[in-house]
Amino acid sequence: DWELRVRQSARVKHGAHGLTVLVTGASGFVGTHVSMALRRRGDGVLGLDNFNNYYDPSLKRSRQKLLERAGIFVVEGDINDRDLLTKLFDVVAFTHVMHLAAQAGVRYAMENPKSYVNSNIAGLVNLLEVCKSANPQPSIVWASSSSVYGLNSKVPFSEKDRTDQPASLYAATKKAGEEITHTYNHIYGLSITGLRFFTVYGPWGRPDMAYFFFAKDMLKGKQIKVFEGPNHSTVARDFTYIDDIVKGCLGALDTAKKSTGTGGKKKGPAQFRIFNLGNTSPVSVTELVSILEKLLKVKANKKVLPLPRNGDVPFTHANITLAQKELSYKPTTALQTGLKKFVRWYSSYYSDSKKKSGSVW
Ligand code: NAD
Repeated sequence: DWELRVRQSARVKHGAHGLTVLVTGASGFVGTHVSMALRRRGDGVLGLDNFNNYYDPSLKRSRQKLLERAGIFVVEGDINDRDLLTKLFDVVAFTHVMHLAAQAGVRYAMENPKSYVNSNIAGLVNLLEVCKSANPQPSIVWASSSSVYGLNSKVPFSEKDRTDQPASLYAATKKAGEEITHTYNHIYGLSITGLRFFTVYGPWGRPDMAYFFFAKDMLKGKQIKVFEGPNHSTVARDFTYIDDIVKGCLGALDTAKKSTGTGGKKKGPAQFRIFNLGNTSPVSVTELVSILEKLLKVKANKKVLPLPRNGDVPFTHANITLAQKELSYKPTTALQTGLKKFVRWYSSYYSDSKKKSGSVW
């Protein structure tokens, strides 16, 4: 039955770490990889995901199959569902929450602004409310975003830099998340680590991200839009490979201190941290396209357009000194290498329907 599946999935299997982790957004891109990595180490993992249709839900279902094969149960539900979350914490004493469920993407806010508020603000608060009252309180590691640096930040971005000019509603909700988690940290003693991911890419990635739909459209011979910044300046991203991000997430979980409250009351000062997880080597979108051209062996049909003023910043570049020091975070994957792995996955996933059942890793 349901409760048995929840318990079994969350049970620590073996290994030195012994964490019991609730992973929200487990059937998402990052959630799938983090869950698999935790399970490989023997940690207990329970997933939660609402399988929304922001992008192809069948890709989320394929990831779920992959997780199920590894013995990870993904509960279908929403982080706004207080009763469901309370029930999960009644059944399992989670030591950690890896909170990855969110409305991601910058441009979709023009179509559906409410989904950002529902998942990234209301859902976050709901989750924190349940965590604050849980006994024991879990330590929380969650995904913020490089987008909090917004406009006019100096590069490379470091954690102490200003974050008061979000360029999109998405960025604003992530910034709000940082303030909200800080509040729960000092009022209720929750241990909180926020990770500002920089443009994560790789196998099982998100179809709404440029590297993914460029590959798809280039293979179909369709035109792709390549944006340039003001005065024909280069648009560049600090592309970070998924395996590097996963190591950063595990580093954050392993170094998270315990929360210091019980039953909603704080007993002592609790840990609050924020880290950049990037690659420290921005690559222009033009260069991204030329790497894809070589890997896919096709010539891109490019249309160069000015960057729309709808939330995309022209440039991102992480300073990762803090994560290097505190989390032993060390990205090692160059964009060429990571994209090669993405292209290999993409070709097999979309060429053979049998493989969609999760045998392509
Ligand atoms: P994703 O969309 O693939 O994963 C998010 C998952 O959460 C999805 O499977 C979705 O169904 C689920 N979800 C969304 N709202 C939910 C809700 N209310 N209740 C339950 N489940 C819900 O995105 P991702 O790329 O894996 O991103 C993971 C996290 O990292 C997100 O918080 C995102 O904002 C953040 N982030 C990602 C990137 C990146 O480049 N991928 C960069 C910066 C930050």
